[in-house]
Amino acid sequence: MKSGCTSQKAKKPRSIGLPVLKITKDQNGVIRDSRTSRWRALALVTLNLLMIAHFIQWRLAGRTISPIEPSETMYTLQNGAINAGFIFFTLAILATLIFGRFVCGWGCHILALQDFCAWMLKKLGLKPKPFRSRLLIFVPLAGALYMFIWPTVYRFFAAPKNEPLFPQFTNHLITSNFWETFPPLLVAIPFLFICGFMTVYFLGSKGFCTYACPYGGFFSLADKFSPGKIRVTDACNECGHCTATCTSNVIVHAEVKQYGMVVDPGCMKCMDCISVCPNDALYFGFGKPSVTVPKSIAKNYSLTWSEEVAGAVLFLASFLAVWDVYQLVPMLMALGVATITTFLALRTWRLIRASDLSFYRFELKSAGTIRKAGWLFLSFALVWIGLNAHSGWVRYNESAGARAFQNIQIPDELALASLKPDTWLSSDDRRNIVDAKKHLHAATNVGLFTNSYALPKLAWVEYLSGDSEQSVQLLSTASRHQEGQARALSLYYRGAILNRLGRYDEALKSLDEALAEASNLILAREEKGESLWQLGRKQEAISAWTDAAGRNAGLVLTNNFLAGAAASQGQAEAATAYEKQADQFTPVDPYFHWMLGQRLQYVGMTALAEKHFQLAIQMNPGFRALKK
Ligand code: SF4
Ligand code: SF4
Ligand code: SF4
Repeated sequence: MKSGCTSQKAKKPRSIGLPVLKITKDQNGVIRDSRTSRWRALALVTLNLLMIAHFIQWRLAGRTISPIEPSETMYTLQNGAINAGFIFFTLAILATLIFGRFVCGWGCHILALQDFCAWMLKKLGLKPKPFRSRLLIFVPLAGALYMFIWPTVYRFFAAPKNEPLFPQFTNHLITSNFWETFPPLLVAIPFLFICGFMTVYFLGSKGFCTYACPYGGFFSLADKFSPGKIRVTDACNECGHCTATCTSNVIVHAEVKQYGMVVDPGCMKCMDCISVCPNDALYFGFGKPSVTVPKSIAKNYSLTWSEEVAGAVLFLASFLAVWDVYQLVPMLMALGVATITTFLALRTWRLIRASDLSFYRFELKSAGTIRKAGWLFLSFALVWIGLNAHSGWVRYNESAGARAFQNIQIPDELALASLKPDTWLSSDDRRNIVDAKKHLHAATNVGLFTNSYALPKLAWVEYLSGDSEQSVQLLSTASRHQEGQARALSLYYRGAILNRLGRYDEALKSLDEALAEASNLILAREEKGESLWQLGRKQEAISAWTDAAGRNAGLVLTNNFLAGAAASQGQAEAATAYEKQADQFTPVDPYFHWMLGQRLQYVGMTALAEKHFQLAIQMNPGFRALKK
């Protein structure tokens, strides 16, 4: 049905204030309660209960369906892992292309949090006011392009030749590591608080959806192409109840009057407007997608153009400062933080410059004097912005340190051959070690949290600089904050350095812990054999090396150890076999032979050690000087 409102097309764009309510005789301006809001609340509560049930089922069974989260799609695009999140997101986008943005309105747990927060604020007599920006509105789409399109674009331009554009797809629908891709609880709770509550308080009832959520970037784009819309009949009398009710900040009465339907892609099809319309003038129906409709309604924005530009710069700076700081803050949380920082910084600027300013019903400044609420606001804003700047400093040092660390070229085997890796360092390595140390120390010294990924890097540069004790300490601290493979690696390096320091009991303990964390860490088994050998537990050492060689026949050092052990026990035939096995995998590289010589000499297998020293000297006579 064609709307009577659409026939009265406005000649010029006009500005619409919120809310626009006419008090008419028959309605007395009273907006009736939305009946659908109860159904929606029920749907969102059920959704959250299902999520909790999913988690409990995993804890009890040890295996479950992989997380039904859109973010999982990234792993499909990057690694080819087909998971439940990818299937859900694909179906959700297809559904949005037909019906509009129902998935957001009825099936998102972050939206449930935002609605809950808005409801609580309403109970306190506070109605979140929408923050309207022309530039920040593009953040969700930019985030979506980065998360879901960039991996494929990157592969297209940067992947080596012959590598396919899409990775090989594998089935990851069932997982035993459900929490693998989620942040730890320490991060998840502030994440939900910032994205679900703070964004609503400062930016309006759909603050996170409007300015931060990358999934929303795609959902709102799909909504523009969808034929499913909130449409209007001739019964509309422009009372404005729909606009006053809409928590997605859509100017419903004006849009339906102007276009015959709601065209704002922020409409999440919650159906509240349909429910509260006193004339039953609204309905959900199919027709032309809104992308085909030329827009003519001008909106009121919260910022001037210069504030918009400053806001965009502030947003970017805040986002880069916070994203991945301490290797803890996920992208979505960083987007939420950046929107709040931008809002607070711009409001603080206005508070300083304007003579009158209010926020909700609180008077921040009047007649040029900052009021009590204003000082509170200012204090909070300055603490928040200060913390943000501090995160930026930490993040800068973390990434500069990580870059310098990445550029260190000395192979680990050579560095670990003796406690004097200095001999093998190039001038570039020395410079990068100094840089890495400077930045990683700066980051850890002022950091508010332990970056368990930066500590092992710092430990390694300390070791390369000759401070093995400090390195062992740092690796201990790192391992206390890590888990899984990362923890196993820290414990392995700690064990290896302790072996070089001659503290074999401690080394053995560390290596056993590493293997308990990751039994596939063969190098830890090789080092464990060395600790046992040095402690005089020779049969156990041989068992550890045999176990390692059984898992990887190409382990050159392990086979040399086994050859030396067999020779020391008078088993000449076995010694020759192990030596032969080792030699066929030994690279033609004087450094590698020298490393083997040092490791073998260290455990007292001198004959074999001498063989490798001589081979190194044959390949590079310069090594003769090191022998003296
Ligand atoms: S935009 Fe994002 S946070 Fe908002 S409802 Fe949609 S998926 Fe949820
Ligand atoms: S659609 Fe209904 S609620 Fe909205 S302005 Fe028209 S009559 Fe009022
Ligand atoms: S326009 Fe109507 S359906 Fe859309 S979000 Fe607002 S109240 Fe809900």
